[in-house]
Amino acid sequence: MQLVSLPSSQSFSPANTRELPNEEARLKMRYLDLRRPVLQRNLQVRAECARRIRELLEGYAFIEVETPLLFKPTPEGAREFLVAARKPGHFYALPQSPQQYKQLLMASGVDRYFQIARCFRDEDLRADRQPEFTQVDLEMAYAAPSDVMAVAEALVKDLWARFRTPLPDTPFQTITYQQAMSRFGSDKPDIRHGAEITDITSYFIKAFPRMEKKLSEFRLHALCLKPHSAAPSLTGIKCSAKAYQLPRTRLGASRFTAEIKIPPPTQLGPLSAQEQSAWDAATQKALNSLSACNDDIIVWEYGSGPFQGGWTGLGKIRLQWNNTIHPNTTIDAFIWVTEFPLLAKIATSQEEHHADYTAYAPVHHPFTSPNPEDFSLLFTNPDKVRAEHYDLVLNGVEIGGGSIRIHDPNLQEYIFSRVMQMTPEGISRFRHLLDALGSGCPPHGGIALGFDRLVAILCRASSLREVIAFPKSSSGADLTVGSPAPL
Ligand code: ASP
Repeated sequence: MQLVSLPSSQSFSPANTRELPNEEARLKMRYLDLRRPVLQRNLQVRAECARRIRELLEGYAFIEVETPLLFKPTPEGAREFLVAARKPGHFYALPQSPQQYKQLLMASGVDRYFQIARCFRDEDLRADRQPEFTQVDLEMAYAAPSDVMAVAEALVKDLWARFRTPLPDTPFQTITYQQAMSRFGSDKPDIRHGAEITDITSYFIKAFPRMEKKLSEFRLHALCLKPHSAAPSLTGIKCSAKAYQLPRTRLGASRFTAEIKIPPPTQLGPLSAQEQSAWDAATQKALNSLSACNDDIIVWEYGSGPFQGGWTGLGKIRLQWNNTIHPNTTIDAFIWVTEFPLLAKIATSQEEHHADYTAYAPVHHPFTSPNPEDFSLLFTNPDKVRAEHYDLVLNGVEIGGGSIRIHDPNLQEYIFSRVMQMTPEGISRFRHLLDALGSGCPPHGGIALGFDRLVAILCRASSLREVIAFPKSSSGADLTVGSPAPL
């Protein structure tokens, strides 16, 4: 029985924010701010989402299990919040997610676990993140990626059926990480608008068979932007893209004319006159393949090696361009991104990693299974191994991620010690997991969906703070009670 009748999302419109005091004042007196109908409704939507998620997952035979909040420090990835214990020199850590406990539950014979779980990460609070947040966390024994993805899709579809139209078609499209980076310049592709990036490398490789080896790691991508009255200035976009530029990439832009020249990359060295004309001919063929017309803007970018990280310069440009010329898009586009790299070399990794990893650090977490097809690469080229990982992306925002896990204790220990070259101290912090896997653990996999983010999207809220009763401010403070506080 539904006790509270919610207005439909169509009849809901945010209150007039012009008369509101600034956010700092509102956070300070959150109990007054929460009286506003829009926030009341957000809390009701949140509660109903939680209720529906429980109902749906229980219908799929998942059982809800609470796991401890007083955990222990482990080098899983994110920086942890510590809680002093009574024993001198000893600390609990608040869990960055219930990841290790849910894997222990798989070894315990709980075949389908879920929890609407509180998670804590002491990380940079940029871009609408909260140091404590809520995930819909689940894990399944004997699961293939498609099983986990199907549950996540059913869950999302159920919420959309209640709060948002139109209902998304399932199964959602799937794209590999390398394809996402090549076509959209992002590992969180926003596929709602056109302006796809084109890989034009092959035209140049064909024109320089003699240099094929030298060009083997080279890539050249181009983006063709059609003139638009609302288009942002390219100079502005170019600057912001450069700020995100990966090493050894170059960005260029030009209005299309028949004489357009893309300068050859420096790795080719000085070109002879004959080679220069082969280069120019390849440029023309490549641009023809983009169906570019006069007055279009062509932006190009060089790179080398497989893609790494979350963005290319072209991806940033594409996003800013599309956001400017389509400011009021209301359609929703879901997509799965798979086949992420499993590991990043420490020296080249741009992420902040734990000092316990000395050679390679996990791109996601260290329990993610390698793709079975790439198993042998673990011994030769660990950074080329693809992970059995999947991220769910909605309109360019990651709303969830998960993976098949390593369930063989020998493989997990080998990856810790020989591939990542973790310190013995680091490995010993995962002994409970290695022992549990060694006690006989079924193959398993799972996912976590960002609950705050999902609710914010369903409420069309502009920030996570609007769907959390007592959120932290952008500096991590609870202004209502005044935390953190000196002891
Ligand atoms: N524990 C992971 C996370 O919080 C999700 C998962 O792999 O299930 O990102």
